[in-house]
Amino acid sequence: MREPVDVIKRYNLPEKVKFCKCCVISNQRPRICLDDKGICSACRFAERKKKTIDWNDREKQLIELLDRHRSKNGKHDVVVPASGGKDSAFVAHQLKYKYGMRPLTVTWAPALFTDVGWRNFQNFIQAGFDNILCTPNPEVHRKLTRLGFEHLAEPFQPFAYGVKNFATSMAVKYQIPLIMYGENGEVEYGGDSKNEEIPTHNLNDDLERHYFSNMGPLRWLEYGIKREDLALYLPPPAEELQKLNAEAHFFGFYKKWIPQENYYYAMEHTGFEANPDGRSEGTYSRYASLDDKLDGFHFWMAYIKFGIGRATSDAAHEIRDGHLTREEGVALVRRFDGEFPKLYFKDFLDYTRLTEDEFWEIVNSYRSPHIWKQTSDGEWQLKHEID
Ligand SMILES: [Zn+2]
Repeated sequence: MREPVDVIKRYNLPEKVKFCKCCVISNQRPRICLDDKGICSACRFAERKKKTIDWNDREKQLIELLDRHRSKNGKHDVVVPASGGKDSAFVAHQLKYKYGMRPLTVTWAPALFTDVGWRNFQNFIQAGFDNILCTPNPEVHRKLTRLGFEHLAEPFQPFAYGVKNFATSMAVKYQIPLIMYGENGEVEYGGDSKNEEIPTHNLNDDLERHYFSNMGPLRWLEYGIKREDLALYLPPPAEELQKLNAEAHFFGFYKKWIPQENYYYAMEHTGFEANPDGRSEGTYSRYASLDDKLDGFHFWMAYIKFGIGRATSDAAHEIRDGHLTREEGVALVRRFDGEFPKLYFKDFLDYTRLTEDEFWEIVNSYRSPHIWKQTSDGEWQLKHEID
């Protein structure tokens, strides 16, 4: 038996589960805050997006930023990390065709491309983009995925390194100081809101804390991963980034970030296709995170650790964007949240080389008693369901 993980301590979670009164998220999302009226920081930010932020002024700021970097000799002038999914397609396409930039799109390959993910990626490039695809050594990526799953309940851990660090490495390699990310997840979906009024992505502290759970790539050396195998996962040397005067910005700071609108935009402009199987497992939505066969496990493990599944995350921001009422959101969460991603379960086990028993042992070690209870016949149930 594996030692149970102290999830409360590890993620600094409140012991008493509370749900936001406006959306469906709970206070178990790391770093989110519920105010004295019981409303979460992401909902408060969504209000400001609608009421107080001057989007015309933000667009002016964007144009000033782009003008400062705009290439005069035809060279690439902005690096856009892109998978061909709806969000990065929106960012890259707007930068190129609306704002006249010359983006170099860079892609960190999923562990296991889905068919629809591959088609979307190809269609995206066909819409007129230069692209560099990085596919790390599958043997190394497989080991890191398994380590991430075992030690952090996060099979996407090595993917997070790649998405962030490969983009900055390419910025240095091609001497392109501007990097444009999509949305600031911490601000849009709830988390550390200190960055609400800041357009840039802090590539040092925040990266380590918010995206790598304080487990950067080099932490795996002690688990038998070799330094030379980590080259692609590491950031470029800090002094080179500094010399380049690299600045990473969030497009969502300058343009109102509405995932559903990005979906319509990408369908129209880059041939983006929603999930042909219908909704993704664990949610009602058809158009988010479709690229990797491991996607479902990333979301499902958040359900295990925090009681926050894929339907909760989707419904929360659709309520904030005014596309769902809270009542509809609650019904969707009750219906789909926590549905096991069985479609690619076998692929997941093959990829991580885990047996089914080992898989469940790891999963169950992350079921914190403040989130989960076991019925007399051994079935796991959430202690607090949304209402
Ligand atoms: Zn909320």
